Amino acid sequence: MRKQIAAANWKMNLTVQQAETLVTDIIAAGVELKPNQEAVFGVPFPYITSVQKKLSGKKNMNIAAQNCYSKVCGAYTGEVSAEMLKSIGVPYVIIGHSERREYFKESNAELAEKVIICFEFGLKPIFCCGEDLAIREQGTQNDFVETQLKESLFHLTPQQMTGFVIAYEPIWAIGTGKTASSAQAQEIHAHIRSVLATQFGQDVADSISILYGGSVKAGNAKEIFGQPDVDGGLVGGASLVATDFATIISSLK
Ligand code: PEP
Repeated sequence: MRKQIAAANWKMNLTVQQAETLVTDIIAAGVELKPNQEAVFGVPFPYITSVQKKLSGKKNMNIAAQNCYSKVCGAYTGEVSAEMLKSIGVPYVIIGHSERREYFKESNAELAEKVIICFEFGLKPIFCCGEDLAIREQGTQNDFVETQLKESLFHLTPQQMTGFVIAYEPIWAIGTGKTASSAQAQEIHAHIRSVLATQFGQDVADSISILYGGSVKAGNAKEIFGQPDVDGGLVGGASLVATDFATIISSLK
């Protein structure tokens, strides 16, 4: 059975004290994760170690970095490498979030390099894709997302793609309070899985967790996660509120 994942994306928010309180409160909420479920905390780089300590020994709770650079090492002032993340025990890294694509001009080609670097150093990418409002209004979202997958992931082997994590995040739903309906989410998630099945085989596609992201809240998570091809969520705003994120975790299938 593929993993069901509730992944928090804290973005560039919180002080370290607030971060520690948040994670402590989420743990104190006492959510029980089943063997196929995982909670992942995408925290800012400076807080990785302190949040990691809070999560230590907590079953199926893990850290993600929010980014890494597309080069192995060298004169890239201010960047953080996959090897550095691995060396401090980070298992996951969010790759290609729409904010990185928009503000930092990360292209599909650069993201293709990043996923390879992740594999080289044993990090699991949470690969983000999704269309903006203009593309949704034209009705070409399936083709758009397919191109993102082709250009950034199709150089990987079926073995590398087994158990991979993708987050489908329509840009028009991120931080806007507008959520894709559960039917819209299911439709494009099923499309993504069929594109992956064509390239990598049905068994591999069936092993890939496809998360939905875009204004997931405590009140809508259960319905969205209940769709057959939605395997949890990547959550921004609501992951900053302990009770809300605890409810979202307990909404996993
Ligand atoms: C995100 O940052 O990936 C996200 C989906 O944000 P929000 O939940 O706030 O829409």
